[in-house]
Amino acid sequence: MYNRCHLIGFQLTAENANEKNLITGTRYLNIEGMLPFENMVADYVQETGNHVLYRVTPMYEENNLVASGVLMEGYSVEDNGTDIQFCVYSYNVQPGIIIDYSTGESYAEGTSSNNEETSQTTETTNNTSSTADYILNTNTHKFHYPTCSSVDTMKESNTDYYTGSRDDLIAQGYDPCGRCKP
Ligand SMILES: [Zn+2]
Repeated sequence: MYNRCHLIGFQLTAENANEKNLITGTRYLNIEGMLPFENMVADYVQETGNHVLYRVTPMYEENNLVASGVLMEGYSVEDNGTDIQFCVYSYNVQPGIIIDYSTGESYAEGTSSNNEETSQTTETTNNTSSTADYILNTNTHKFHYPTCSSVDTMKESNTDYYTGSRDDLIAQGYDPCGRCKP
């Protein structure tokens, strides 16, 4: 249910493990809440070469360990916000799951927090996860996990950053790396 959630999307920063950029977020927040805006900004920058002012602020209530949501703001610079201008609040929620934001504990709706159904529900949700961060080699058309040792030797000009599904990458003509086996 929980993902490593990049505040500023991996495809926008190429930073995978900067602790200042990571929070505990639900898969639903990542995919349904944040990814559409990250893709919109990434596409705009790629197509125009323009810049986007971009800020993501996690919102914590009181001393909660888990953020209630994130505030996402974007504004395209060269065209004064004509193409990109948004300020949205994305909730850190997962349908069917109740989250205790003070501790991070979670359980399925209609169950108590300590029975067996909890872990099963969480596991099932995890297994359906099909979106991840990948590094693309646009020259060889291989894709890698960000942690793959091959990535260190790749030329910057051949490197691209991608957040999405493995199947989509393969459909785009990319092959999984033989070393990190993504
Ligand atoms: Zn690899």
